[in-house]
Amino acid sequence: MRENDDLRVLVRTIRDYPKPGIQFRDVSTLLLDGPAFRKTIDRMIALVDPDSFDFIAGIEARGFIVSAAMSYALEKGKVMLRKPGKLPGQSVSIDYALEYGTDQIEMHTDAIRPGQRVLLVDDLLATGGTAMAGVELLRGQGAVVDTALFIVDLPDLGGSAKLTAVQVEPMALMA
Ligand code: 5GP
Repeated sequence: MRENDDLRVLVRTIRDYPKPGIQFRDVSTLLLDGPAFRKTIDRMIALVDPDSFDFIAGIEARGFIVSAAMSYALEKGKVMLRKPGKLPGQSVSIDYALEYGTDQIEMHTDAIRPGQRVLLVDDLLATGGTAMAGVELLRGQGAVVDTALFIVDLPDLGGSAKLTAVQVEPMALMA
């Protein structure tokens, strides 16, 4: 049995979502299993040194689930990287290319101060476009971003190879 096989089997694959030809890795089935969800968070926490960052940034929406659980457990503040038009305060945004289309994420300009260290978290790394945009957005506000953490990595889509600007710590559920 490979490491994390117990969690890997709980991620279901849905063909042709959201577009024909895309195989969507659906983590909702993993989240439905309470003990497995807890193990996922515990194992993600075990991959990082909590003293090496001040905040955890999560990418809307599934990245919020994982990053909020980690923030709670580690007592770290959480930075929200949101879809456009959702943040009430003054915000900055960045556009990026997705595996299927383009998108945009935003953050509050007063969320972090220059020099603060931020761990980036999302549910899944595919082409790396989303995570790279998160890194650039945070760095644009002066954050130090060294590490990005994911539940699932799809290495065939090139994300971990592209994200050379940070250390990638996927749990590699699909590798
Ligand atoms: P990337 O930008 O790396 O190509 O795509 C990753 C982003 O899109 C993540 O925010 C992730 O939530 C979403 N995403 C892309 N493909 C999938 C998939 O197959 N399953 C899930 N759960 N999310 C995906």
